[in-house]
Amino acid sequence: MTALELHDIHGRYGLLHAVKGISLTLPTGTVLAVIGANGAGKTTLMRMLAGLHPTAAGSVSLFGQDVTLLPAHARLRAGLALCPEGRRLFADLTVRENLQIGAENGCGGDWTLATVIDALPQIAPLLDRPAGGLSGGQRQAVAIGRSLIANPRVLLLDEVSLGLSPAAVEGVYQSLERLRGHMTLVIVEQDLTRAMSFAERLICLSEGVMELDGTPQNLTRGQITDAYFGIHKVEGADA
Ligand code: ATP
Repeated sequence: MTALELHDIHGRYGLLHAVKGISLTLPTGTVLAVIGANGAGKTTLMRMLAGLHPTAAGSVSLFGQDVTLLPAHARLRAGLALCPEGRRLFADLTVRENLQIGAENGCGGDWTLATVIDALPQIAPLLDRPAGGLSGGQRQAVAIGRSLIANPRVLLLDEVSLGLSPAAVEGVYQSLERLRGHMTLVIVEQDLTRAMSFAERLICLSEGVMELDGTPQNLTRGQITDAYFGIHKVEGADA
């Protein structure tokens, strides 16, 4: 079954054309990494998929339902959650309260406080602490937990490791590894080595265009870095 289908989607900020005609079909359960240089359009794409930025042209389908015009809260209820860059937790609320908000806005299902803590055990001792006092790695784990407890079938993660220590990044990826097979994952990741080892499919954006779509096994590092810097289009990379 297809989890996400993008058909020639475009995103703009006024005259700036940030996402230029991206088409993509993601089978259920895929782990996709999205890479690209600063300003390539990765965050805009994630926000368009989540319904937080308007799709100027083209269409987005979620499990066969056209969601192009659905706002973010309706997409969340339809099973698509975004864990945004910068975490965006409520700093004055406790971790438990942040998670409760995630649950209230989601669609209900197997992910509860207990199962989220099973998947992210580092959250357990933090439950009654204000989110604002946590380290970057802890905040990221809570942000992932808040997305999970909404019971998404598709989870978008924007720059999950940005600004974290290597140990915190390792912790975050160990947590994400536990989600493999349970949902479709789309991860924006700047660290190419990490993206190639974690994802089973990789796309690279450059100036709003999808320059590359393939599997880590079938792409060379040279092809990926060329696409990353927009040096030339790679032909023949399989999806
Ligand atoms: P980064 O890795 O730096 O976050 P990105 O690949 O996520 O980059 P986007 O943040 O999606 O890229 O930006 C794509 C383009 O849209 C860039 O040219 C950026 O300057 C522009 N842009 C992003 N947000 C806005 C905004 N709120 N208003 C105007 N232009 C924006």
